[in-house]
Amino acid sequence: MSRILGLGALGITAASTLAVWQTRFNPRIHEASNCQMERLKGLPTREAIVDSLKKEKQFDVLVIGGGSAGAGVALDAQTRGLKTAMVEYGDYCCGTSSKSSKLIHGGVKYLETALKEMDYEQYKIVQEGLKERINVMKCAPFLSHTFPVLVPTYKWWQSVYYWGGVKVYDFLAGKCIPSKFVSKEEAIEICPTIRKEGLRGAMLYYDGQQNDARLVLVVALTAIRYGAKCVNHTECVDLLKDSDGKVTGAIVKDHISGETYKINAKVVVNATGPHNDHIRKMADPNRKPIIMGCSGIHLTVAKYFCPGNTGLVNPKSSDGRVIFSFPWENVTIVGTTDDEAEPSHSPNVSEKEIQYILEEMNRSYAKEYQIKREDVISAWSGIRGLVWDPRKKNHRTLARGHVVDAMAEETMNKVVENNRFDEVKPCATRGMKFEGGLNYTPMLYREISRKYGLEEKVASHLCHTYGDKVYEVLKLCKSTGKQFPAIGHRLHPDFPFLEAEVRYAVKEEYARIPADILARRTRLSLLDARAAKQVLPRVVSIMAEELGWNPCQQKKNYEAGLEFLKVEMGVFNLGKGKGERMELTSSEESQIASIFKKIDKEGRGTFSSSDLKEFLNEQKKSQNVQKDILVDVITEANDGNRFISQEELQKIYLNIKNGSYKGRRLIDHLGELKTE
Ligand SMILES: Cc1cc2nc3c(=O)[nH]c(=O)nc-3n(C[C@H](O)[C@H](O)[C@H](O)COP(=O)(O)OP(=O)(O)OC[C@H]3O[C@@H](n4cnc5c(N)ncnc54)[C@H](O)[C@@H]3O)c2cc1C
Repeated sequence: MSRILGLGALGITAASTLAVWQTRFNPRIHEASNCQMERLKGLPTREAIVDSLKKEKQFDVLVIGGGSAGAGVALDAQTRGLKTAMVEYGDYCCGTSSKSSKLIHGGVKYLETALKEMDYEQYKIVQEGLKERINVMKCAPFLSHTFPVLVPTYKWWQSVYYWGGVKVYDFLAGKCIPSKFVSKEEAIEICPTIRKEGLRGAMLYYDGQQNDARLVLVVALTAIRYGAKCVNHTECVDLLKDSDGKVTGAIVKDHISGETYKINAKVVVNATGPHNDHIRKMADPNRKPIIMGCSGIHLTVAKYFCPGNTGLVNPKSSDGRVIFSFPWENVTIVGTTDDEAEPSHSPNVSEKEIQYILEEMNRSYAKEYQIKREDVISAWSGIRGLVWDPRKKNHRTLARGHVVDAMAEETMNKVVENNRFDEVKPCATRGMKFEGGLNYTPMLYREISRKYGLEEKVASHLCHTYGDKVYEVLKLCKSTGKQFPAIGHRLHPDFPFLEAEVRYAVKEEYARIPADILARRTRLSLLDARAAKQVLPRVVSIMAEELGWNPCQQKKNYEAGLEFLKVEMGVFNLGKGKGERMELTSSEESQIASIFKKIDKEGRGTFSSSDLKEFLNEQKKSQNVQKDILVDVITEANDGNRFISQEELQKIYLNIKNGSYKGRRLIDHLGELKTE
């Protein structure tokens, strides 16, 4: 008999198969409604945490797995006053939780199932998810926001059907921007990429979006801030048991130092998502597997495919799945699939899956906006852990997405109910401000942009990544030697990530390998895998300075980073470049120079929307394009700048050639280059 608790299944389906408790005891619960625990001033180093894990005689709770579920439980347990430890095989949130569709929601899809099948459990998941949306927005406002989504309808009955469903969703969400039905013309205006033939109109509703990996990270950091001993890159290799076979802790292996040590705990929580069975087998090799892995992929394409920052949902693909394109972090993510897969620590995306998504999504796109294979700039896969539900004769999701607080609270309530702890406070995580959220305000980016001479785009990115911790990152920024921007060297010219963020991630956020930086502290590898490959050498050299790597360690880390991009982000699978960024040929450069000269007739060195309009009129092309539309076209192509230099025009063409994302509308006007 063991005392190991499998998270996620609890309260949903098979709690009894996962948790067998020895004692029943009602703990003394404090009356406090807010967290009374002390927050540490500075976060301990990773080494100090490892030291505490080794020295502590017995923890109250040990959590295995640092995804959204594990981090949530660790925070909940620690802030109830329980001595808590957490070990994560890879990096915080390196599993499914960083590869989600980035929604904070109950899921329109689940709601449909709930209503169709009169399934109360599914209904409760949606309701809880929507409640959680409000909570997440309070706890980490800098990492979450709402955004509009269009569900086009091509038959009148669909209009009524979707209207009904989305209105129930609105009702469950409580306070939110209400959804509405928009006419065909309005739908096209909101989302010009939409397929127009047969279009009747669309439902416009609002969903919540988040930066999934950073959200889990701030939950883990908050737990550490309250005294939990959480450590990443540490695998549970076996469970400790007493003579009765009861689980009393774990044997863990630190992948950074290579050391193996023991952690003792009264309760062990298995929060390993799709790897749940692996840990269950450690408890009892005879246990039957209950988890089925199911992979869901996403593709990243240019922001251009989600104009107006509006998501587009195709609720019924040819095989009945929901396929969508959502704007996220200045790109578009397209997903997702649902195919049986072996649980893996480094899942990859197959060509078949890519083709499936493109084909299905393109059904919702107009002919002129079809997403091509070479438009794909990153591809990643996440594995859901579905648990067998004997009552329903099917598999259901093991964990309820990023419903961090609600699920953690429920789990900890069970832990507390079933165990003998001296003193336990009530759950205190509702509305708790996570790391970075305490003094964050939506206008913080304006303040720091002015005060520190930062580009607004960079300031906005920093505030939406670090909240009020932005000042700590700014302290690490070096002077550029220029008047503007005064500080902050970018890692890559096309993205707002700064080199200082790499240093901050190592010093304050426990990043230890390049993939931690590329995929989870920044999200660069998900946004553009090739750009991530380009910055890898610089990331390795900054990490080497911070962590004192010798040349051999640098080489090893560089190679591991490349392998990660290859396997998990599909970098060698993308576009024509096979992972290599192509350059412009001399003939292409002279074509660009000639186009530029024709537009910039007066030789000012830049052209504006008026120059472009004049040029198009002379070319008898697009004569009717309004000047304000051309302003928009130019600013889209040139990162908010309304004037384009020859060098910038070259960069735009180069990005197009590399399947990168800027200036597609501008190129539609100017034309493709002729290649030999
Ligand atoms: C394609 C896709 C899209 C999704 N979209 C959304 C969405 O938009 N919104 C939403 O809310 N939810 C979404 N979900 C669901 C959500 O991502 C998952 O439910 C959630 O991430 C599960 O969290 P978890 O912590 O249980 O699992 P994981 O995130 O996988 O965490 C488990 C962790 O355990 C670690 N681990 C495994 N073995 C060991 C070991 N031996 N020792 C130590 N650690 C170990 C792993 O490294 C991993 O980090 C999506 C899921 C998929 C697949």
